[in-house]
Amino acid sequence: MRVGVLSLQGAFREHLSVLDSLGVSCCKVTRPEHLDGLDSVILPGGESSAMVRIAAGTGLFPALRERIGAGLPVFGTCAGLILLADRLTDDSLDGFDRLGGLDVTVARNAYGRQRESFSAPVQVTGLDDAFEATFIRAPQILSIGNGVEVLSEYADVPVLVRQGNIWGGSFHPELGIDTRIHEEFLHSLGATV
Ligand code: GLN
Repeated sequence: MRVGVLSLQGAFREHLSVLDSLGVSCCKVTRPEHLDGLDSVILPGGESSAMVRIAAGTGLFPALRERIGAGLPVFGTCAGLILLADRLTDDSLDGFDRLGGLDVTVARNAYGRQRESFSAPVQVTGLDDAFEATFIRAPQILSIGNGVEVLSEYADVPVLVRQGNIWGGSFHPELGIDTRIHEEFLHSLGATV
């Protein structure tokens, strides 16, 4: 099992270190050729408007979109969720290539500004105890399509969802020492971590 982490901007190092700590082979993804041989890709939190600008013209997003369409498992967290969402409620990223693939409607920054960042315990399908979820200028999932399963909610709003091999979360599972959500994702791919 080899997992790539989109490393254009944002919290990619934190995801890489979680994967390292779980003994999973991992690498940074910044160019289309880095996708070769990967079993999965994680899209980190950060700033989606920066990511789409950095990716523009590199061919990375078209290549990644094609692979996701062909079944490559992917997990987008926070800004990564924004990249994966089929629909955004505002036009701030219009004109930039994104990925899409996850049948959700997402509102950027809907959990407030940076200084309104918070963490809260959430129940997650498959986990016995609550996970302390950190929300930083987080996107909110406003609606989900029929094929989307809700794995966790906060205040009755989905915050972790799954559509087959495509996972998306509003919060940052890579911050802190709790690796259980990464483990759940990797288990869903058949990894023994
Ligand atoms: N607000 C950011 C964006 O719109 C996402 C924040 C995050 O990833 N923590 O890209």
